[in-house]
Amino acid sequence: MEQKIRCRTCAAEYDASLVRCPFCGTAYALAEEKEYMGKLEEVREELHQQTVKGDKRIKKGMSATVRVILAAVVVAVLLLFGILWLSGRSERSRSDQKKEEFLQNQGITTQQEVTDR
Ligand SMILES: [Zn+2]
Repeated sequence: MEQKIRCRTCAAEYDASLVRCPFCGTAYALAEEKEYMGKLEEVREELHQQTVKGDKRIKKGMSATVRVILAAVVVAVLLLFGILWLSGRSERSRSDQKKEEFLQNQGITTQQEVTDR
């Protein structure tokens, strides 16, 4: 089922899949065009793959930005909780101080300094 073409220069018959006449080297226009189109298709495919890669790179970059934002949010939340916890603690110690003052006013000391006398 192999198609044969006749060379227009030397009249030799050769396989149609060949780009050039194997005898005289004359280019077979249709095959040459096919080859050219094939190359064009390759270039187009390469370009397409590069754009896809570029899209992926952009997506990757976006996800990296999202990750940074998420990390910042987590840090901010942790800081907020830390501040809340610290302020809660200092408030508690302040109320403890008030309790101590109250107890001291009542003549009851929580600290035993009386042992010296
Ligand atoms: Zn030829």
